[in-house]
Amino acid sequence: METEYAVIVIGAGPAGSIAAATVAEKGFKVLLIEKRQEIGSPIRCAEAVTKEGISEFIDPETRWIAAEINVLRLYAPNGSSASIRGLATGYILERKIFDRELASRAANAGADVMVRTHATGLLVEGGKVRGVHINHLGEEVLVTSHVVIAADGVESQVARWAGLDTLPKLRHIDTGVQYLMSDLEIEPQVAEFHFARGIAPGGYAWVFPKGERMANVGLAIGGNVSHPKTAHRYLREFVDKRFPRNAILGITAGGIPTGATIRKMVTDGLMVAGDAAHHTNPLTGGGIVNAMKAGKLAGAVAIKALEIGDCSKETLRAYEREWRRSVGKSLERFYRIKGAFLGLTDRDLNEAASVLAKLDGKDLTLRRVFMTLFKSNPKLSLLIPRIFV
Ligand SMILES: Cc1cc2nc3c(=O)[nH]c(=O)nc-3n(C[C@H](O)[C@H](O)[C@H](O)COP(=O)(O)OP(=O)(O)OC[C@H]3O[C@@H](n4cnc5c(N)ncnc54)[C@H](O)[C@@H]3O)c2cc1C
Repeated sequence: METEYAVIVIGAGPAGSIAAATVAEKGFKVLLIEKRQEIGSPIRCAEAVTKEGISEFIDPETRWIAAEINVLRLYAPNGSSASIRGLATGYILERKIFDRELASRAANAGADVMVRTHATGLLVEGGKVRGVHINHLGEEVLVTSHVVIAADGVESQVARWAGLDTLPKLRHIDTGVQYLMSDLEIEPQVAEFHFARGIAPGGYAWVFPKGERMANVGLAIGGNVSHPKTAHRYLREFVDKRFPRNAILGITAGGIPTGATIRKMVTDGLMVAGDAAHHTNPLTGGGIVNAMKAGKLAGAVAIKALEIGDCSKETLRAYEREWRRSVGKSLERFYRIKGAFLGLTDRDLNEAASVLAKLDGKDLTLRRVFMTLFKSNPKLSLLIPRIFV
């Protein structure tokens, strides 16, 4: 195998594949490695994205779209619900296919893509990251590069090897558990959000349809609130109540970083992108689109650094600055809103559902929804970013 590249990208999730494609498109030699034997599998995701968010990167294709969503249904703790039609539209992805599509685009752009290839350490010379020790199908190889992009997800090790502090505090990790279920009585274009301390303390439960009668049914519980039961126990109870008749075809669980983004995202010869840098939205736990944004930005900055022949942290800091300007500031705002949102009581949420239920579907705008909630009780408007972002 080749042992010299301009850029090595570690992790073929959305962040890594977009980063690799961005750099390869400019003609630089790129290696994208993935430790799993199959890209996109197993999935640890509820697979929801907004149409707007994803449109910056890829045109929609039925192959990787499991469902199109145009109704958000909010369930309050007392069981009442309110449906908001047409205001926010999104997809439930088929991430197995989606992630492979992104990786194959990187390959088509010229990147070498290798699965069952595990980064096991970094080559650091004079304080600069100069390459990656990898295990490829059991064989140890040292591959050198000018830039390494660590896109190795929430359990990231790579950036830590380079001395960056990426370890999230326990209170900043939400725990998500999800079933893939079939034989459900659901509406295929309706995404359900269930808010109640008794259902998912510090988080929410979701039902995201994946076509007729099938859905991702899951919940996340907050790392910063006490909860007497495990996330799985909460999910079991939710499912037994919401879908007494059901079939579970798959189960997935994972940590979701919902704290602030890491402060230092670069060092000499290395950048961190996606979940590895805690780029998820702290309020919603969504991270796919942000991972793609981070991958694109990191790729663009790597290109500039290679063009001027300077991959020092001073040059790579352009990535940190641009991230903070374009995305980071709003994530900081969402982080603050999250604190306030967690202060809402079940009674507040019941009130929000009853206010929203009175809105008719015609001429609904985000502003109208916001103003209706705000007039009823200003703190209820916190629901807007929680469900629409
Ligand atoms: C239960 C749950 C539900 C979620 N639901 C949603 C949702 O509905 N919408 C949304 O937007 N986000 C959701 N998320 C978050 C979303 O899945 C992540 O934000 C997104 O996958 C981040 O992309 P990434 O490329 O940064 O990392 P990942 O997709 O995690 O990719 C990282 C890759 O790096 C590989 N890797 C790790 N270490 C190494 C190594 N040493 N060598 C080689 N490869 C390595 C991993 O195998 C992995 O494939 C959810 C998360 C969870 C846990």
